[in-house]
Amino acid sequence: MVQEPQRELPTRYSRRAALKFGLGGLACTLCGGAGVYYIAEKFRSVGSADVFKKDAPAGPFWEEWQAQGWACEARHYLKLGRNIQCKLCPNECLLEPEDRGHCRNRVHKDGKLYTLAYANPCAFHVDPIEKKPLLHFLPETPVFSIATSGCCLRCLNCQNWDISQRKPEETKDPRGLPVRLTPSQLNSLGDVDPSHVTMLPEDVVDLATCLDCPSIAYTYSEPIVWFEYMMDTARLARAKDIKNCWITCGSIQNEPLLELCKVIDAANVNLKSFDEDIYRDLNTGKLEPVLATLETLKREGVWFEVTNLVVPTYTDKPEMIRRMCDWLFDNLGPDYPLHFSRFHPAHKLTHLPPTPVDTLDEARDIARSAGLHFVYVGNCQEIPDGETTICPGCRKPIIRRNYFSVLSNDIVAGKCKWCGTKIAGIWG
Ligand code: SF4
Repeated sequence: MVQEPQRELPTRYSRRAALKFGLGGLACTLCGGAGVYYIAEKFRSVGSADVFKKDAPAGPFWEEWQAQGWACEARHYLKLGRNIQCKLCPNECLLEPEDRGHCRNRVHKDGKLYTLAYANPCAFHVDPIEKKPLLHFLPETPVFSIATSGCCLRCLNCQNWDISQRKPEETKDPRGLPVRLTPSQLNSLGDVDPSHVTMLPEDVVDLATCLDCPSIAYTYSEPIVWFEYMMDTARLARAKDIKNCWITCGSIQNEPLLELCKVIDAANVNLKSFDEDIYRDLNTGKLEPVLATLETLKREGVWFEVTNLVVPTYTDKPEMIRRMCDWLFDNLGPDYPLHFSRFHPAHKLTHLPPTPVDTLDEARDIARSAGLHFVYVGNCQEIPDGETTICPGCRKPIIRRNYFSVLSNDIVAGKCKWCGTKIAGIWG
């Protein structure tokens, strides 16, 4: 079986590779140089993020990286004189030659923008779909899950920081012979060093098929910043009748999002708070683009669920939760599930306690009273019915779950077995 990251913390590869490469001392600075200052001024309205100056891989290492097939030209960027602006996420990084984007994955080389995260996953595993969490999508099925390193955000609470806050070069080693992972190697995975593994889009699809997974999840880190790998894989998967799940922070620009909507079957969008200041302070992100993503997913007919992590002292204010739930109801309707997720101390917030059970209970009450039909509490065993689906028609429990297992399922052909009410979701 393939190597398993924990739900949030795949650690094995990146630590070892980081030691192996010894790539400390990141050159993280604010944009420097007259050209970049000029362009930043010109594009102030969009607000670009800080980038890693002169940090692109070079020399034989870059050649080896390319030879492995791990670099690919990016698909959403502008050329601005000798500089480049990435147009994939709202950070809109402005890159001089040899600069690296805020997400660590994209570099300006030879007048082009390249992603370094192509066909080189640092984490891959078969998960239950309930773990994503996607509770209204092909219940009780396994999902082949992959990730490369990198993220466009810097969440203080990140539970996957060990891959999300790494450069691809800190999780993968291009030196030596290529190791392409295909279904024929599944029985000898113990001999494979994951830091050398190449997994082409067709390999991902073949592995999912071979492992009897009806869907593939792009997950663990932020798939937006490995957009090209996700898109190419998702297109092939769709052609072979395998579904695609996007587990995301939702911070993406409209054009790539519309492309993605053509191949994605389900998404879980992390709505981190309902306050621009908290988004900035806790996540270095912005609220508005995430709301726009939710509206676009609805408009484009992509099934999605929303997760909100309740972080003590940051995102636990009932008033803010109420505003968020009202917005969800008013703009998306009652049927897209909302998952409140319990915070556990991690990364830069180890001084905070886990979210109190009462706070999660109250959040659920607020969401239900706002009119949302499907409200869940995850990562919290103390709330035994936290992941039970209640029929909005007859109020009976129709799916009972325990952690990532389904205990009973009374949905038949997408309807409540007891009263016939249609239950929103994709039930297979
Ligand atoms: S995807 Fe990366 S390089 Fe592009 S704008 Fe976002 S953070 Fe910057």
